[in-house]
Amino acid sequence: MLSIKNLHASIGDKEILKGINLEVKAGEVHAIMGPNGAGKSTLSAVIAGNENYEVTEGSVSLDGEDLEELAPEERAHKGVFLSFQYPVEIPGVSVTNFMRAAINETRKAKGEEEMAASDMLKLIREKSELLEIDRKFLSRSLNEGFSGGEKKRNEIFQMAMLEPKLAILDETDSGLDIDALRIVANGVNKLKSEKNAVVVITHYQRLLEYIVPDFVHVLLNGKIVKSGDASLALELEERGYDWIKAENQ
Ligand code: ADP
Ligand code: MG
Ligand code: MG
Repeated sequence: MLSIKNLHASIGDKEILKGINLEVKAGEVHAIMGPNGAGKSTLSAVIAGNENYEVTEGSVSLDGEDLEELAPEERAHKGVFLSFQYPVEIPGVSVTNFMRAAINETRKAKGEEEMAASDMLKLIREKSELLEIDRKFLSRSLNEGFSGGEKKRNEIFQMAMLEPKLAILDETDSGLDIDALRIVANGVNKLKSEKNAVVVITHYQRLLEYIVPDFVHVLLNGKIVKSGDASLALELEERGYDWIKAENQ
C-alpha cells in the first residue's frame, strides 16, 4: 500500500531524511520509534505532503501511485490521514459540523454524493460511542479551549469517521492519561482491517501494549537503522537508544 523508496527530504538546506525505505502493506500496523530529532515527524509530514519540506531524492507511493505531485488535500482524499493535520481552532464550527464537512468534501472529491443527513448522524453516533465521546463535546467549537487529551481524542474521532486507508498517528499518545490512551488504542484497533494500514509514531512502548504492531522500526538521524517485531519496542524500553546509536557510528 505505502511504498517509500530511498526518500531524502530537506528543510531549507538541511537534509533531515537521508534515505528512508519502508513498505507498509494493507492490514499491517507499523510502529516508528526513535529519539527526539530523529526525523519521525518530518517523515509523517512528507508522506502527508507538507510543502515546507522538499523531497530531494526517492519516492513515496500509495497503491502504486507516486504521491509527489499531489497536494496534501489530494492525498487526504486518497485516504492518507495524518493526526494533527488540522490542529486549528475554528471558532463557531462545531466538532460535528467540521466532521460533516470533511466527510462530504472527501466524497465530493471522489465524485460521490453528499452523505444523507440521517446516515451522517448515525455514523457520528456510532463512532462517538465507540470512542466514548460525550455528546456535549460534539457541539463544542473545534479545538477551541480543548485540553491536550480532548485534542487527541478529537483526532482519533476524525480518524474513525474518515476511515482512512493509511492512518499516521504522530505521538498521539504523548500527554494522555491511561484512560485516554486506552480509548485512542481502542479507536485504532477498531479501524484496523485487511483494507487499511496504520503507522504509529511514538517515543514510548506504552501505547504499543494496547496497539500491538506487526513491525517496529527505529529511526535515527534520518534513516531507519533497525526493524523488528513488537519485541523490539520492549527492548528499546529497557535499553534505550544508545546501543543502537553505538551500532550505527
Ligand atoms: P522527531 O519527530 O523525530 O523528533 P523531527 O522530524 O521533528 O524529529 O525533526 C528532525 C530534525 O529536523 C530536527 O533536527 C529538527 O530540529 C529539524 N527540523 C524539523 N522541522 C524543522 C524546521 N521547520 N526548520 C528547521 N529544522 C527543522
Ligand atoms: Mg520531536
Ligand atoms: Mg516528532
